[in-house]
Amino acid sequence: MSDETHLKIYGVLGYPAKHSLSPLMHNAAFKSLGIKAEYKIFEVAPEKLDDFFDALSQKNISGLNVTVPYKEMVLKYLDQQSPEVRFTGACNTIEAKKKNYLKGWNTDGIGFYRHLSKDLKFNITGKSVVILGAGGAAKAVINQLAKKKAKSIAIYDIDKNKSRKLSAKVNREFPSCNAVSVNALDELAIKDADLLINATPVGMQKDDPCLVNPDVLHARLLVYDLIYNPSETKLLRLARSKGAMTANGLGMLFYQGARSFKIWTEKNAPLEVMRQALAKGAKKL
Ligand code: NAP
Repeated sequence: MSDETHLKIYGVLGYPAKHSLSPLMHNAAFKSLGIKAEYKIFEVAPEKLDDFFDALSQKNISGLNVTVPYKEMVLKYLDQQSPEVRFTGACNTIEAKKKNYLKGWNTDGIGFYRHLSKDLKFNITGKSVVILGAGGAAKAVINQLAKKKAKSIAIYDIDKNKSRKLSAKVNREFPSCNAVSVNALDELAIKDADLLINATPVGMQKDDPCLVNPDVLHARLLVYDLIYNPSETKLLRLARSKGAMTANGLGMLFYQGARSFKIWTEKNAPLEVMRQALAKGAKKL
């Protein structure tokens, strides 16, 4: 057998995916643990997705991260779904250890929660949360927050159907958490909240507004923006100016990657190596 046969292949599947920071993080981890593996970018057009999955085992692919726009679309290729995939309807990590058998995971919520609890030392139990957005990332985050006993979660999305469905699901599955969907931004009780999360893409573009009225931001608030590029959105800048603690989504990206690494290799991720590789890549964005 050639060396190529032994080399395990991992990668990120997306469209576009060229600017992903994940290869830096995972290749540094493989190298530091002496694992014979390579993490690649699979930029696959939607019409080629079926072919890509058909040829997965021939390509020696042992695991994938999944990013925009495929997190929901890949569910049809999975043989097994983790509870987080079932809750969110989205998958960001695929384990392909067994031939022709794919298990889907969602490590986004766990990544967020690890960053929140380990690095930011924020204890969610009994806290009031306000979240902007009810899409894939919001679902992953809310699943963890409700599981870890947040007292209340108020959700606002431009699409009221999404926020209503999500709050109803949280109330059904996590009776200790009171989830509500609000119809307008000014109905969000940010003044009484402990944690404000932006899980919309608003803030990624230079001219994007801050969705909430800056007057309601306050110093007892932790403001977490899932966006990491730019590293400080308008929301985070305004929150910081009000004395609030702020965080961007780089820590979430880091910990979701570390969890994916553990799923694929069954080894603890070399956290410091991965963190440094990611920080280096993020500086160049
Ligand atoms: P998504 O599934 O498209 O969800 C975004 C949601 O926000 C959608 O429901 C969207 O509604 C809604 N929305 C858009 N504009 C809005 C506005 N002005 N007011 C209220 N709601 C609005 O996207 P996603 O995958 O959840 O990602 C959301 C953000 O999180 C992105 O910025 C992404 O880069 C970030 N993210 C970060 C990480 C990380 O590791 N740090 C991981 C995942 C995602 P419509 O669909 O109707 O537009």
